[in-house]
Amino acid sequence: MSNCCATGALNAATQACPECGTVCKSVEMRTLYQQVKFPENQHITSGSYYFCPAEQCSIAYFSSAGNRIPKAHLRSYQEIRQGKLCYCFDIDTDLYLSALRVNRAESIKEFVIQRTKVGECACESRNPSGRCCLAEFKRLEKEQGKTAG
Ligand SMILES: [Zn+2]
Repeated sequence: MSNCCATGALNAATQACPECGTVCKSVEMRTLYQQVKFPENQHITSGSYYFCPAEQCSIAYFSSAGNRIPKAHLRSYQEIRQGKLCYCFDIDTDLYLSALRVNRAESIKEFVIQRTKVGECACESRNPSGRCCLAEFKRLEKEQGKTAG
């Protein structure tokens, strides 16, 4: 559980989302069961599932066998719509972007890195992607770096 962030990127299979075409990474069944609301969680068919991170796409999970679970059925639906960056420690994308602009982002990221190192993150269950959010932090930094020139 504590090594989710270390191994997350290595064993990722990918598949294109049937609705929006985004390249999606594989996700464990345990993440599905911890994300999907009752009673929808009673009807999940086991299989190889992928998570679509596109905010404007209605699909959360889809399987290679053709099963689909909409984002509206997830416990984290509100958070996805709000643009949550880190589900473990409740950090919003907007908040992190403003922190980047005023050079306060480093301490926020350091906090997440530290907590993650000692195994206090919960990406597998809190993050609908089942993966560590630290990659997202880096992606935002890059984007921000570009727009800042
Ligand atoms: Zn999609």
